[in-house]
This record gives sequence, C-alpha cells and structure tokens, in this order.
Amino acid sequence: MTQTLPPAFLAALKDALGPKGWTDDPAKLEEHTTGFRAFMHGETPIVAMPASTEEAAALVKLCAEHRVAITPQGGNTGLVDAGLPHGEVCVSMRRMNKVRSVDVFNNSMVVEAGAPLVTAQAAANEVNRLFPLSLGSEGTATIGGLISTNAGGVNVLRYGMMRDLLLGMEVVLPSGEIWDGLSGLRKNNTGYDLKHLFAGAEGTLGLITAATLKLFPKVQRATAWVTCESPSDVVSLLALVRDHAGDTVTSFEIIPANAVDMVIADIQGTRDPLPSNLGWRVLMEVSFTDEAMARQTLETALGAAFETGLVQDAVIAESLSQAKAMWMVRETIPMSKRAYGNSLNQDLSVPVSRIPEFIEVCNARVLEQLPTADFVIFGHVGDGNLHYSVIEPPEKMGLREHSGALTRLIYDTVMEFGGSISAEHGVGRLKRDELAKLRPVAATETMRAIKRAIDPLNIMNPNRVVSV
Ligand SMILES: Cc1cc2nc3c(=O)[nH]c(=O)nc-3n(C[C@H](O)[C@H](O)[C@H](O)COP(=O)(O)OP(=O)(O)OC[C@H]3O[C@@H](n4cnc5c(N)ncnc54)[C@H](O)[C@@H]3O)c2cc1C
Repeated sequence: MTQTLPPAFLAALKDALGPKGWTDDPAKLEEHTTGFRAFMHGETPIVAMPASTEEAAALVKLCAEHRVAITPQGGNTGLVDAGLPHGEVCVSMRRMNKVRSVDVFNNSMVVEAGAPLVTAQAAANEVNRLFPLSLGSEGTATIGGLISTNAGGVNVLRYGMMRDLLLGMEVVLPSGEIWDGLSGLRKNNTGYDLKHLFAGAEGTLGLITAATLKLFPKVQRATAWVTCESPSDVVSLLALVRDHAGDTVTSFEIIPANAVDMVIADIQGTRDPLPSNLGWRVLMEVSFTDEAMARQTLETALGAAFETGLVQDAVIAESLSQAKAMWMVRETIPMSKRAYGNSLNQDLSVPVSRIPEFIEVCNARVLEQLPTADFVIFGHVGDGNLHYSVIEPPEKMGLREHSGALTRLIYDTVMEFGGSISAEHGVGRLKRDELAKLRPVAATETMRAIKRAIDPLNIMNPNRVVSV
C-alpha cells in the first residue's frame, strides 16, 4: 500500500533535491513501477532522484526522521521484485552516473552507483583495462543494482561475481550517515569487511552511492560454438577444456537446440551458427592478452575434445562480428522464450558434476505432473547455474494450472541435489518466504539481527530478502 507522505516531509524532500530531483508525474512513475517480468507491478507516491552523495544522505536522513520507507532503484532490470517500490518512496540512482576516477597503476576505478555497466566497461577500455562483468542487461543495469544483487553473468568462471570485483564502497546508511569506504586497497584487514554486507543485500541495509571496482588486463577472446549430444558430454567437455586452457576459459554456456530455433524464429537477422540434429550447444570463450594465443589454446582444447568424441562439430569465430552473432543467440534466449509462449522460469544452481543427473530427474518429475511440458534449459554451466524453464505454447493452460505444484517440485529437487533456488538473481519479495523455510534457521536469524542492527526503523527496502 502506498504510504501517505506527510506534507512537511514532501516539502523538505523537494527543497533538498531541487526541481530535477523528484517527480510525481504518473506517466513518469510508471517506468519505475513496472518490472521486466509481466507479473511485476509496484506503486509509489514519488520518485526521488538525488544527484550527489550529499543529496542522497539528506534524503535518507529526512526519511528516517519521518519514518518513511525507501526502495532504492538502479536500472530496474532485477528479476525478483526487489527494486520495484510497493508503496515506498522510490529512490532512483540514475542521476548519479559518473566515473569519478580511474587509477591505472592501482588497477581500480571509482564509479557512481547509477552508472550503467556499459559505462564502467567503456571507462576501463579507454585506459586499456578490462572490467569483466558482462550480462544481457548491461546497457541498463547499474553498478549499484549489480552490487546489490551480487550479479553474475557470463564471465564468473574466470573473474567471479560482482562481490569479487569490489575494492571499496560509499554508502548512505539508514540513519542518513555516509560511510566512505572507497579505499582502493587490496589488503586491508581492519575488522569486518563492511562492503560485503551491502553486496547482495538488495538495498535493505543502505543506499550505495559509489564503488571502487577492480580492473584487469585487457584480453583478446577466441569464441567457439560447439554441438554436443548430452548435458553429460557438456560437463565432461568443460573439464577437458579447463585441463588444456586452465583459467583462461572465461565463459562456458550451455544452450539447448530448441532455444536456438526460438531465437531464429523471433529475432530478425539471427542464424544458427552451426546447424545440427544434436540436442545441445556450448558457447565458450578462452581469453589471453595475445589474440593468437587465445585462438591456439581454444583450437588445442577443441582438438582434444574431438578425439574423445565429446564434441561432434565446432566453429571458431573468425571475427568480432561473428563472435557477437554467436552471443546474440545466447543473450536473446529470454526474450525469444517470452515470445514463444508461457514459461515457468527458475534461476538455480547445483554442483557442476550433478547437472546432467539433475536435468534428467527434474525433467522426468515435471513431465509426470504435466506430460505436455517442454523445456528450455540454458545458462552458465561452468558455475553450475542453470536458467531452467518449463514452457508451453500460449494456447495451452497447463502451466498456469500447475505452476504452484511445479515450482514446489523443482525447488524440492534442487534442494535434494544440494543446490540453490536462487543462483544469481537474488531473493527480493519473490523468494523471501520460500528461502526463510529452506535456509538454516541460524542463517535467517543472523540476517534478521544484522538488518535490525543497521536499520532499526526498517525503512530501507523493507520486506525484501528477510522479513523482520
Ligand atoms: C535481459 C536480462 C538479462 C539478465 N542477465 C543476468 C545475468 O546474466 N546475471 C545476473 O546476475 N543477473 C541478470 N539479470 C538481472 C539483473 O540485470 C541484475 O539483477 C542487475 O544486477 C540489476 O541491476 P539494476 O541496476 O537494474 O537494479 P534494480 O533492478 O534497479 O535493483 C535491483 C536491487 O538492487 C537494489 N539497488 C539498486 N540500486 C541500489 C543502490 N544504489 N543502493 C542500494 N540498493 C540498490 C534495489 O533496491 C533492488 O533490490 C538480467 C536481467 C535481464 C532483464
């Protein structure tokens, strides 16, 4: 329910942020209250848009004084209903979008929270460095949102999640106090590492205003598209490729044949990089500082894979545009899946070694419940992270009727396999209650204790992650 805001609060907010720093125009509010997924809708009386850390601090202090709840928002690309306001004041960080500084010798840069990921990537590139986080929403998703969801993406295999790419952070705490932790130090053992509290907190502990990010040497990539017979071969292939290429394997994505068909039917100009009757594809990348080395390493690894029969056919991209065309197929799967029909989508992880058995068992259980179901199972196999979707054409009603039972069945199977029902997208409101049941009680109680200690008034994105 939308909060009724005290007139004195509203007047003070407008005064603190100036005419460009807020809107209550219903047409403009809509973009902040409509989520990427069709079922996600929120509401808010006002969107506040601070332009500096000082303005953000003044805003949060006002909210604390008047007991007004806040939902921080970046690019609004989140998938778990964490960044949509449900009555709270929406604090859009998009005006805080500058790269404050780049330190080439320290391999670090300070970027404001509302900067889109592409801005950070471009700033690194300009000084011949790499900021390696990469995902399908990178044109819109912001540094603050990526930190708050501890985003993953396609390069986790080599560089880790967003948490692993942080050196420091600047945060407005729920009291309105500013914590300046922007140090670019790699060694700093001086007590609790506070930045890790805010990474993955989904805006429940504070408003991130800037972060110090790690930079890496720029690399050249060799990209291959491979056809495989089964998920079991895909997992064995990953091990074999890593035996040959070690940590230079940057991405390793599994793609089912039917997803390629969906993309080609839906997105003009796309084509199957390697038509085949086999059921599975792998899109993989190896990267080195030297282009020839990257290609040679990939060729050697694929040569070994052919000898063992794990790979039936493969093509290595001859140019950047060929590599981009391959990635286009991968990145547009979510969109094309939506165009195809109904789907029940899960972002899950299991140990890499158990992926083939998980797919077999889970699919069989789903089919028992809904014999007409089909599947699109793709994602970051190198991280054990599958985007597991049960699909059906739009005219069928099976998924709508059985979605509760199917979700339960999938969650139970994931837990049986020692996995997680939220691999990289987070908790939000969507999975809060389910995770409260699945997590060890001690973990949930510790989370609640942290939330109560840092945000005693419960004004920072309440009811996401854990309820208190
Ligand atoms: C097409 C598509 C592909 C995607 N691919 C991936 C993928 O491969 N891997 C992956 O991990 N995710 C993926 N996502 C999910 C999404 O892009 C990420 O969750 C992203 O990190 C969200 O960033 P955002 O700026 O849009 O945050 P929002 O959606 O605006 O917010 C997300 C959460 O962060 C909080 N938040 C935002 N800014 C701040 C701030 N400054 N301070 C405190 N809290 C804040 C919000 O309150 C909310 O809880 C994808 C999404 C789409 C639509």
